[in-house]
Amino acid sequence: MFVGHYSVAFAAKSERNKIPLWVLFIAVQFLDYIWATLVLLGIEKLRVIKGFTAGSMLDSYFHPYSHSLVTAIAWSALAALLYKMICSQHGGLYRKYAALTVGVAVFSHWALDLIAHPRDLPIYDDTWKVGFGLWNYRDPEFALEIALLACGIILYLSRNVMPLPKKVAAIIFGIVLTVIQIGDTYVPREALTDKATAMGVWIFYTLFVVVAFFLEKIGNRRQVNAS
Ligand SMILES: [Zn+2]
Repeated sequence: MFVGHYSVAFAAKSERNKIPLWVLFIAVQFLDYIWATLVLLGIEKLRVIKGFTAGSMLDSYFHPYSHSLVTAIAWSALAALLYKMICSQHGGLYRKYAALTVGVAVFSHWALDLIAHPRDLPIYDDTWKVGFGLWNYRDPEFALEIALLACGIILYLSRNVMPLPKKVAAIIFGIVLTVIQIGDTYVPREALTDKATAMGVWIFYTLFVVVAFFLEKIGNRRQVNAS
């Protein structure tokens, strides 16, 4: 699962919880940030094999710290606590259930990976591996990613009050993510090394976080001026 993860970030954002969209963009990929970091450190293991599955070249054969069910729950709880702590230090930002929402957003990564991944997600440590393997079916997996993303953005647009330029920007962002997913799924390319892939994860995911940050800035100044 790739851009489909961001559906949860878009869907989770509401007027009530006031969680910044960029925070949710980190949350839904939090496990992959840990994974990419551990791959770069040589602690978790990844093979990049052309045609490994129809929809992905990633054979992530050892990732017990970032992608086991038990550690996924632990990272989710940690992220929720961290969010609450940071918010309380910056008084007034925190809304009820926001930490829980952040925790659920982090855990959603594992749940969505479970659908796409071949049987490589351990329940704990490196054992009892599960995965429904939708990556073996390229078109349905692609369709699911885009359908999820579209639903997420529709929820984002309907649950949050925003000026028209911001709505348009959110839709354009969705289209850009779709194009990136088309590139990832359908455009043939050579397999990168494990480290280069992990670097790519860091760079692309962080780029999306930056875009989410600026997306939410659109129209803010005008609202301030108008008030
Ligand atoms: Zn993952």
